[in-house]
Amino acid sequence: MDLEKWKEQWSDLCRGTRKLAGDMGEAAWTGALKAGQAAENAIRYTRLKARVLDLGTQVRSQMRKIGELVYATHSGTPTDSATLQAALEAVDKLNEEIDECQRALAALRGIRICGVCGAENRAADSRCTQCGQPLDC
Ligand SMILES: [Zn+2]
Repeated sequence: MDLEKWKEQWSDLCRGTRKLAGDMGEAAWTGALKAGQAAENAIRYTRLKARVLDLGTQVRSQMRKIGELVYATHSGTPTDSATLQAALEAVDKLNEEIDECQRALAALRGIRICGVCGAENRAADSRCTQCGQPLDC
């Protein structure tokens, strides 16, 4: 083999090796990004689940207070209606936050929950497959 041909083959080999190394580096980077995103989603999912559990505990506690207020009224110690209203509104607020968390959890699972009828839709759907309402959040 003459020297020029050998140099040419060596040069081709080096080019090929650099391209392969570049491709492998890119694949590793893409893989690392995907793994990082998956780990981030897993952490977010766990936090949302924990938040839903905590909110559920708060709802039950608030419902117990409401029950006590209603029973006090029944037993002859009428509850001031503003106090009862505030307790009921606190439950509404907690339930709204639970719904938001459930929607975020569904989104992480690739599902969109309809805010009107509660049906589960695919992430790509722009309208609810059950009731036809736009899925905007
Ligand atoms: Zn719907």
